[in-house]
Amino acid sequence: MTTHTNSRAGATAHPSVRAPGARYVYDLSEGNAGMRALLGGKGAGVAEMQRIGLPVPDGFTVTTAACVAAMEDDGAWPGGLWDEILTHLATLERRTGRTLGAAERPLLVSVRSGAVVSMPGMMDTVLNLGMSDRAAQGLAAESDDPRFAWDTYRRFVQMYGEVVEGVPGQAFEDELTALKDRRGVRRDAELTADDLRELVKTFRGVVRRSTGHDLPTDPHDQLRRAVDAVFGSWNSPRARVYRELNEIPDDLGTAVNVMQMVFGNKGDTSATGVCFTRNPATGARERYGEFLLDAQGEDVVAGTRTPRRLPELESVLPGVYTQLLDTLDRLEQHYQDMQDVEFTIDDGTLYLLQVRTGKRTAAAALRVARDLVAEGVIDRPTALRRIDPAQLDQLLHPTLDPAQATTPLTHGLNASPGAAVGTLVFDADTAAERGGAGEDVVLVRWETTPDDIHGVAAAQGVLTAHGGMTSHAAVVARGMGKPCVAGAGELRIDVAARTLAVGDTVLTEADTITVDGTTGYVYPGALPLVPPQVTDDFATVLGWADDVRRLGVRANADTGEDAVRARELGAEGVGLCRTEHMFMATDRLPVVQRMILADTTEDRQAALDELLPVQQADFEEIFTAMTGLPVAVRLIDPPLHEFLPDLVEQSLLVQRLEADGTPGELERARTLLAHVRRLSEANPMLGTRGVRLSLLHPEIGVMQTRAIVRAALAVRGRGLDPRVEIMVPLVGYAEELRRMREIVVATADGELDAAGVTDLDYRVGTMIELPRAALTAGEIAEHADFFSFGTNDLTQTTVGISRDDAEGSFLAAYLEAGVVRTNPFASLDADGVGELVRIGVERGLRTRPGLETGVCGEHGGDPASIALLDELGVDYVSCSPYRVPVARLAAAQARLDGAPGEA
Ligand code: PEP
Ligand code: MG
Repeated sequence: MTTHTNSRAGATAHPSVRAPGARYVYDLSEGNAGMRALLGGKGAGVAEMQRIGLPVPDGFTVTTAACVAAMEDDGAWPGGLWDEILTHLATLERRTGRTLGAAERPLLVSVRSGAVVSMPGMMDTVLNLGMSDRAAQGLAAESDDPRFAWDTYRRFVQMYGEVVEGVPGQAFEDELTALKDRRGVRRDAELTADDLRELVKTFRGVVRRSTGHDLPTDPHDQLRRAVDAVFGSWNSPRARVYRELNEIPDDLGTAVNVMQMVFGNKGDTSATGVCFTRNPATGARERYGEFLLDAQGEDVVAGTRTPRRLPELESVLPGVYTQLLDTLDRLEQHYQDMQDVEFTIDDGTLYLLQVRTGKRTAAAALRVARDLVAEGVIDRPTALRRIDPAQLDQLLHPTLDPAQATTPLTHGLNASPGAAVGTLVFDADTAAERGGAGEDVVLVRWETTPDDIHGVAAAQGVLTAHGGMTSHAAVVARGMGKPCVAGAGELRIDVAARTLAVGDTVLTEADTITVDGTTGYVYPGALPLVPPQVTDDFATVLGWADDVRRLGVRANADTGEDAVRARELGAEGVGLCRTEHMFMATDRLPVVQRMILADTTEDRQAALDELLPVQQADFEEIFTAMTGLPVAVRLIDPPLHEFLPDLVEQSLLVQRLEADGTPGELERARTLLAHVRRLSEANPMLGTRGVRLSLLHPEIGVMQTRAIVRAALAVRGRGLDPRVEIMVPLVGYAEELRRMREIVVATADGELDAAGVTDLDYRVGTMIELPRAALTAGEIAEHADFFSFGTNDLTQTTVGISRDDAEGSFLAAYLEAGVVRTNPFASLDADGVGELVRIGVERGLRTRPGLETGVCGEHGGDPASIALLDELGVDYVSCSPYRVPVARLAAAQARLDGAPGEA
């Protein structure tokens, strides 16, 4: 058997013994929606539709288990698989009264991939399989339509050539374009039967030249190799990228669906299309979809022809249109969720080819959830369980300020909402490279293909000249929450020259554009964006989440602005204010440096006196935004050298000044270098930072405590209600906290006494971010009013991995090789760090019943970690303001998972 370039699974039957009774192929009538794991989403969906009496083409499914078995055995098929396929094929032939590829009444089949988790367009499909000269004659005679027969044949050669033989698709497109040019026609539909017959010959020549052999004419041979190619497409680069992006396990495999072909390309009584039971961009309850007359399935998704909107079908084929709407209603009621359906109309008869839960934007997810609950279709817990917390992030993307919109450059379809600003990039690799490096880019393509997925992922937004609302670009962009304008027909894109033109305006790679996926307009230049607004749907659904969750949700906020935003998004306080961030601002850094470099106590105090009112002003803003809610302010944490220039850079500066600087400049640079040297450490992460720094230089903590208390007093003076928590970082020994607490309390009480205030409460607590702190939490709790687990440092010090050093090097390699399954800095390491949190909470509570515990590391915004933290019994999580809604929903789901169906 030949091996195929694009297939990792080889088609050789393997003599391995199968477990008795194990089977790899199921007839359509044997399946149902519950068999998804085995039959894949498509196989199970089609079987279910047949079961409830909807019109689907007949066929059978090769299971995911067969694909997995082949992958595990280097591509060799499990023994007996081919015989099983032949048996099911024979049954299908009997039922349809047709024979695969025969000269008379030929059966043609589609061979489609279908994984357990939907991966739209990522794997391969071959249509019209069974085609040959013989079958084409048979089809022409039977249909009395030679044009249809040859059109079907040329489609087969092209798809089989691309998918099974690995011939580049462009080779076929070029021949098709050349033929149309020779005939002087623009549309495929204008080619005659003879033209298409000629095209088949040309296409077969393309395959021969590219592979060195003829296209197989034996239909069984075709089938066997197509199934093998579909198995192999599970491991195609684009499928791998998609799985990585969507965290789909690599070992699930794909099922292969073999179904009798129905034809959407039989002229104007035939069509193919895709539709949703609701609008997947907004969630509105309306018919949403597209179709193409006289076309086959891939034409719609591939975006090669711009399709017509679904409601137009009513005037073309009214009877079928009504039947389709009816079917959509039935499917939505059956699955109790928004569905996405592929259909074909074969000479006036409707067939459904696929049904799946519709992918939707976050806005649509909320709207659909809210509406389905209001319609009495599902209950609130079900609605909450269905929304992917990570997707909520999308809603928090900026949009275009309508007041700022200028004259648009052009417009297309509003395929995926939100606005994006970026420089123009014309290919996916460049987008991936520049976007990956942190640049804002907009990927501009004539149309995108599944191979562009890495570019879409790295871009801010996508703009295509071609394709519709269900084109690849649109589907993928919506799934990722990227703004997308599709099918902007006026665009003239020259990929080689890297230009984009509309009329006389020509833009190049140096230009920036703004795409508004909400309206479909495209603007030259960078337009100002406005922060996202909290909608009614958002507030309602997250309100349901709030009713269910046990965990509190606070935000990590360092500025008043962050705190305001966080509160709007539902934060119940600030869990971490990293005060040193305020030191980094350009107007403050020189003062901070003066403080660090001071030779005398007086000089140091002078610098601190200058910093105090600045810090106080920052805290006032935060206390104001969070009035009535707790704000945990952390005393300085990082080592002092972080506020000074880098050692190497400063050494180079001294060298340079030795050559050409003035004596004064040189002197200053040398002094600074000496300080940098003195403060530099081999392992700063484990060095003079956190409470150690404050005990060494108590005057910094004193200044910060004063600033905090004075800010609270000032805010209270304005009639507000500041709730002060002062937090000591990186404590490892109870004695450290005891001493630091003494300093803080003495300072705070001094401030309150001086102000004559006796009723302003404040609490002093500690971060638990060292294993020793977790293990000795019982002693530490004697001096702490609250605990906040700093799981970033706790992870670094527990697993002994420096985050900054590891993520770009061995940790990435570990993840790739499966040494560790998840990045412990992104998702809490349950067995190690999780255990320490459990111990810390338990021992802390034993000493001080009622002790409040929170988590303020990155994990506080990660749904999987939140589920674990809920179980570990901490009181709240704290995350960045934009993650607050994610955390609210994840915290609710953590409760629901434990008690399905209960609110
Ligand atoms: C932590 O260590 O988890 C933490 C929140 O502190 P930082 O990230 O500032 O070190
Ligand atoms: Mg920390």
